[in-house]
Amino acid sequence: MLAAVETGGTKIFCAVSRRDDPHTLVDSIRIPTQQPEVTLAAINEFLLKHHSSEGLDAVGVASFGPLDTSPGSSTYGYITTTPKAGWLNIDLHRALDGLGKVPVGFVTDVTGSLLGERALGAATGLDTVAYATVGTGVGVGVMVQGQVVSGHGTPELGHILVRRHPQDTFAGLCSYHGDCLEGLASGPAIQARWGRPAEGTEREIIAYYVAQLVVAVTLAIAPARIVIGGGVAKTTGLLDAVREQAGTLMAGYVGASHPIQDPASDYIVWPDLGDLAGVHGALVLAESLLAE
Ligand code: ZN
Repeated sequence: MLAAVETGGTKIFCAVSRRDDPHTLVDSIRIPTQQPEVTLAAINEFLLKHHSSEGLDAVGVASFGPLDTSPGSSTYGYITTTPKAGWLNIDLHRALDGLGKVPVGFVTDVTGSLLGERALGAATGLDTVAYATVGTGVGVGVMVQGQVVSGHGTPELGHILVRRHPQDTFAGLCSYHGDCLEGLASGPAIQARWGRPAEGTEREIIAYYVAQLVVAVTLAIAPARIVIGGGVAKTTGLLDAVREQAGTLMAGYVGASHPIQDPASDYIVWPDLGDLAGVHGALVLAESLLAE
């Protein structure tokens, strides 16, 4: 059996599937994210139940972070500098007690969603692709030629510095950078400015920042597609505005025939799997551990 654990800021999703049919969920459970002791114990209970009955062969964990995903690091599998109360320096291995030598892998939540969308969603079959979430935070998972990009940590494109929209005077909310992309375009930044979802000109302002992310990712990795999910991305009309503005900002530099220049192309798309992307990505990760 393969097991998947997706830990989000508000809920945890655990599932198991059979090795020969990895994307059919045999059993699953959703748990609200509470304090670590309670939450990790509930995950552990689900995993042990299946390990003692059918036996688990591998576990994939996709987690909010920042998360240490470097095998060999002394804090591998730890949530590191998160602002989420109570979760600073929490070792996610605590959810895995009693599994013995079952192989376990960790990826960030956005990378998990990327792997899920690539396995059976909006990025199926694509080898160079990015998955962005624009919501409570802004995060981007990046894959180049079939490999998840990581090096010294993982990409943190949510914190790129962006050109200011001329009608935006908001100082920004990022505790590190103030007016980086996340500081200007995350859900909390929108809430702090307007107290409700962006509309009209406000929506154009947010789209202007998200479009700069699209341009940066396009210039950096030349992806076949960029998938954009998250609560802010669901704002009516926002993705259409991003498609328009990304083409305008790129201004033809990567060629007039590049799909970024065509707002009607499928270059910038919604996720297909909704909130199932992460758990399917974690199953992809678990499956990859079997082959090693
Ligand atoms: Zn920042």
